Amino acid sequence: MKIYEKAPAKINLLLDVLRKREDGYHEVEMIMTMVDLADRLEMSELPRDTIIISSQVGYIPLDEKNLAFQAARLIKERYEVQQGVYIHLDKKIPVAAGLAGGSSDAAATLRGLNRLWRLNIPEEELCALGAELGSDVPFCVTGGTALASGRGEKLEPINCPPQCWVVLAKPPINVSTADVYGRLRANELKTHPSIAGMRKALARGSFHEMCGNLGNVLETVTLELYPEVRQLKESMIRLGADGVLMSGSGPTVFGLVSKEAKLARIYNGLRGFCKEVYVVRMLT
Ligand code: ATP
Repeated sequence: MKIYEKAPAKINLLLDVLRKREDGYHEVEMIMTMVDLADRLEMSELPRDTIIISSQVGYIPLDEKNLAFQAARLIKERYEVQQGVYIHLDKKIPVAAGLAGGSSDAAATLRGLNRLWRLNIPEEELCALGAELGSDVPFCVTGGTALASGRGEKLEPINCPPQCWVVLAKPPINVSTADVYGRLRANELKTHPSIAGMRKALARGSFHEMCGNLGNVLETVTLELYPEVRQLKESMIRLGADGVLMSGSGPTVFGLVSKEAKLARIYNGLRGFCKEVYVVRMLT
């Protein structure tokens, strides 16, 4: 038997860090949502007790460092599944971009193997398994729009954003999430984005209030370290995007745009100096 599962990219409409915890993790508050740029996973049963990962791209690990591999191993061990699985990752989400590509692949693997092996694991339990793999994985299991707190694993579903265009641009640099969090002076942050403001904007379905409440404290680190990310943000604003923010720890910057007529100018302007630009919709 063979099944397919989509693994969409996430963006953070808001990312706040409250403090660094004693266990080394950061206490965060994030409002996350999905966009319709997705990896596609093909999973088929193997009679042998092995996990095999393949991908059409050559620059991601295919061994136990791959998050889809780790997800398959975890579910196999925890539910004592004897069969193996072959997983092909058709990667469309840029890697190490702040779009949770690996986390979404892990979440799609959990959802997919739950179906393939008819395990009937409830979503809450899949989320708990996901939390063992990474902070963004539980959100990627549920999808939708959520307020994530704790280290990202406590989820509260909230109103989805009003429909709009999302322009994603990734400069050709790799940013390590661990490095960005490591450099963040969490206790010295002067301003924090407003969770209440963003929640209100989403509850009202107000595109302009949503744009006005975008915020990500990790910009204080990444924009200092990589001036090209700052320039990209400034260019997107100049080209006419209504709201612009870096996603996650970067380096991808996204622009929210309400009018289709503006898209060609923004896309062409960015493509002049940035190779990886995508125009997508919110997944609502
Ligand atoms: P996040 O936003 O959750 O921090 P990200 O979008 O910044 O994630 P990923 O695309 O998940 O980053 O990749 C981070 C690293 O994880 C890559 O450098 C890659 O080596 C490794 N990795 C492991 N599994 C995968 C996967 N299935 N797809 C992509 N990268 C993976």
